[in-house]
Amino acid sequence: MKTKEEVYQILSKVTDPEIPVLTLEDLGVIRDIRVISDDEVNIKITPTYSGCPATDVMADDIRAALFVAGFSKIKIEQVISPAWTTDWLSPKGKEKLNKYGIAPPVAAVSLEEAIVECPHCGSKNTQVISAFGSTACKALFQCHDCLEPFDYFKCHV
Ligand SMILES: [Zn+2]
Repeated sequence: MKTKEEVYQILSKVTDPEIPVLTLEDLGVIRDIRVISDDEVNIKITPTYSGCPATDVMADDIRAALFVAGFSKIKIEQVISPAWTTDWLSPKGKEKLNKYGIAPPVAAVSLEEAIVECPHCGSKNTQVISAFGSTACKALFQCHDCLEPFDYFKCHV
C-alpha cells in the first residue's frame, strides 16, 4: 500500500490546466490525502479558481495521475472553505507565475478597483483593458509604467 507521502509526490507533479508551469504543490491546493487501501484513495483539494472549467480539468488530471499509480477508487473532494488565496502559493510558485507573465488574483470588488501588480516590473500603476483575456478566466491588463499588457486571473473566490 502506498504511503500518504508517496501519493503527495504523485499529486505534487500534476500541473495547473490554466498555468502549466505551476504544480499543485506550487499552488498549495492539496488539503488532505487518505490512503484507504491498495487501490482506494480520498483526496481533498481547494479549487483555486472557483467556477472555472479549469477546476474540473484539474480534478480529471489528478484522477488520471492516481489511476496510472494503481488507484481505481479515487474520491476527490473540493474544500471551498477557507477559500484559496494567493498567499497559499509557494514562493517558488509566485516566482514562476511572474516569469510566466500572469498576475495572480487579488481580493477586489471589481476589476476596475483591483490593485494588480504588473508581473513584468512590479508596478501597481495598472489598469484593466478588457474583461476577457486569452481565456475566459483571465482579464487583460496594461501597465502604465512599463506599458506591457498582461493577463490577470479574475476567477477567484
Ligand atoms: Zn509594468
